Amino acid sequence: MIVVMAPAADAPAIEHVIARLTERGFDVHRSTGAERTVLGVVGPTQELDTAELELLPGVEEVVRVSTPYKLVSRAFHPDDTLVRVGHPGNNEVTFGGEEVVVAAGPCSVENEEQIRRSAAAVRAAGARLLRGGAFKPRSSPYSFQGLGEQGLELLRMAADAEGLALVTEVMDPSQIGLVAGYADMLQVGARNMQNYVLLRELGRCGKPVLLKRGLAATIEEWLLAAEHVAAAGNRDVVLCERGIRTFETATRNTMDISAIPVIEKRSHLPVIADPSHGIGIRDKVAAMARAAVAAGADGLLVEVHHDPDKALSDGAQSLFPEQFQALMDQLRIIVPALGRSI
Ligand code: PEP
Ligand code: MN
Repeated sequence: MIVVMAPAADAPAIEHVIARLTERGFDVHRSTGAERTVLGVVGPTQELDTAELELLPGVEEVVRVSTPYKLVSRAFHPDDTLVRVGHPGNNEVTFGGEEVVVAAGPCSVENEEQIRRSAAAVRAAGARLLRGGAFKPRSSPYSFQGLGEQGLELLRMAADAEGLALVTEVMDPSQIGLVAGYADMLQVGARNMQNYVLLRELGRCGKPVLLKRGLAATIEEWLLAAEHVAAAGNRDVVLCERGIRTFETATRNTMDISAIPVIEKRSHLPVIADPSHGIGIRDKVAAMARAAVAAGADGLLVEVHHDPDKALSDGAQSLFPEQFQALMDQLRIIVPALGRSI
């Protein structure tokens, strides 16, 4: 249930409503927008009489939310959420604002030369974050599994050398402290989107979370996964569409561009797109990236490798530096036409 306070409602009126609800055992999450305060009420709200709440001073409207997610819904927070990543004055970037934020880098960090060269290439083309996995969720146990902590050290060094923020995947709750010690943003991979223990722990990690859509997840399930992180205390969540499993075999996944405007309507969280996993074929990645940005994506996550033919993971979908540069040049033409910056 959402309690919408009137624009003129003062602090004592808001506190009074919160007190009335908390004394009845409900959790109340407050969202203060530019115009008004909105209260998200979590608990067995069917017991509450909306007419009674509407009589409290300062209450404009009480809305029963039909969606099972509340904190991440647009109804709870009508304004777009801005998610700040990195350090102010150094490598800070903001997702969800005017800027289309690009994160790029290899699928996995492999060695020092690879990550330094890839980071330099993506920085030169205009990326704002370095991506790369040190803990890799591989379909086969015999594939390269990532460098672990050594990979985190290399990623941090390469990101710092280029003034980039760093996003990298965390696969298990036991890795959160370690990964958060190096990364500016923690990625939840598609295979872990419904790992609720991981999501809840990320609610307490103190760093922004990049939540990828599960391979077979509906948009509602994906938003509920984000709700787990938010309900555990972390509202800094950025959603990432990365393609879903369909009957189609001509592409690695089916990039669900339609998810982007649907999310924009249903949730205040930023949504970005990963065209690399979305289509999985190098020469078609740029087309998906352009489409996602045109559809309203707040950013991109793109796999780029200085020598993709030798990559230890996802080489076939990783762009050569020149291809990434060409994509960024195209985006610098498209993005201003959408009233945004890059
Ligand atoms: C990745 O970003 O390299 C990755 C493993 O992605 P996903 O979880 O979307 O498969
Ligand atoms: Mn990958």
